[in-house]
Amino acid sequence: MKEIDDASREILAAFSPIGEERVPLLSGLGRFLSRDLVARTDLPGFDNSAMDGYAVRAADVASATHAAPVALPVVGESRAGGPIPPALAPRTAMRIFTGAPVPAGADAIVIQEDTTRDGDVVAIREASPAGMHVRKQGSDLRAGALALPAGTRITSGAVALLASQDAASVSVQRRPRVAILSTGDELRDIGEPGRPGTIVNSNAYALAAQVLEAGCEPWVLAPVPDRLEEARASIRAGLAADVVVLSGGVSVGEYDVVRDALAAEGIALSFWKVRMKPGKPVAFARAGRVPVLGLPGNPVSAWVTFELFVRPGLRKMLGDPTPERPRVRVTLAEPVRRKGGRTELLRARLVARDGGWVAHLTGGQGSGSLPALAGVEALVIVPAERDEVGTSEPLDALLLSYPRR
Ligand code: AMP
Ligand code: MG
Repeated sequence: MKEIDDASREILAAFSPIGEERVPLLSGLGRFLSRDLVARTDLPGFDNSAMDGYAVRAADVASATHAAPVALPVVGESRAGGPIPPALAPRTAMRIFTGAPVPAGADAIVIQEDTTRDGDVVAIREASPAGMHVRKQGSDLRAGALALPAGTRITSGAVALLASQDAASVSVQRRPRVAILSTGDELRDIGEPGRPGTIVNSNAYALAAQVLEAGCEPWVLAPVPDRLEEARASIRAGLAADVVVLSGGVSVGEYDVVRDALAAEGIALSFWKVRMKPGKPVAFARAGRVPVLGLPGNPVSAWVTFELFVRPGLRKMLGDPTPERPRVRVTLAEPVRRKGGRTELLRARLVARDGGWVAHLTGGQGSGSLPALAGVEALVIVPAERDEVGTSEPLDALLLSYPRR
């Protein structure tokens, strides 16, 4: 039986990006640059004014104060998007607006609030040192410099920079397609008439949602009955995807056909048990370049094991340099008593207290109990050997979504 960390490491190593593609800039949002972005142009592209006011030579206004202003003739204007202004002669000023080109010869801007205008003359009431309120060409970024390294997450902020560099499209890693194969004679789809003893194939929907949340493409195949030949055929079909995720049928009962079906297809399991709760039966294999994961059928177990073992791999395929969930330290709102022996992942939501986080369990922690899944913000890790944890002991938790309280 594998420990969680060993299983995670082994599984993560089997995932790697499947190839790059260029997508339109906005389609890259939330993905990761697969190549360095080298600046094509200086930013700013030309010297321009950061304020509305007057472009001057700093030396001409060095003595200006409110009590003894310096009067300068105003020789034209420069506005954003307007014509490039002529050079500024000594002892003159040019009306200028935010974003407008600074005329050659001028080296400072005096803000409008520090001036008074009288016809063609402006009284400068405040000195403005050289460089003041001038956004120099290339001062933010130089053409040829590294603007964004490969691996950068394309946030809205990164989009601003990419757009300013005329990047109509971006290079990103392709999104893997993930085959989702649910096994079980008892499964029916949402809305299908239910014979007694059947249940909705909720795993197919939950796993598809998790694949989407991870930024990848789910491909839900028809549920597989608990028969070897059908399971084999579905696995063969699923291998057209980049990753195969099965749920159910991976345990030790007579109707658990997944391991036999994989073996019959020549897919050797690396392991099939992890010392964890929920979710002990977790099978892992590689079929050529395609990682194959057999998750437990119990819906909570399937969901938690996807979180732990599939999601990081998918994020790695997308080029996420930190594919694993961040960890935070938490304490429990209520003490927990349990039977030790397996590392347990408690479903919890987090409440801020005294600069730290307190974990409140979201409900019954049974491996089939769905109500506790809906509001999960964190998976609190209880070490295998512990059978009691009080409310003052810090524990590690995987942070799944940012707490709202
Ligand atoms: P298994 O791992 O096949 O023994 O299934 C364990 C439990 O999970 C059983 O109660 C199954 O009915 C249930 N289960 C298996 N597959 C699914 C599924 N796709 N959706 C919801 N529940 C499932
Ligand atoms: Mg089953």
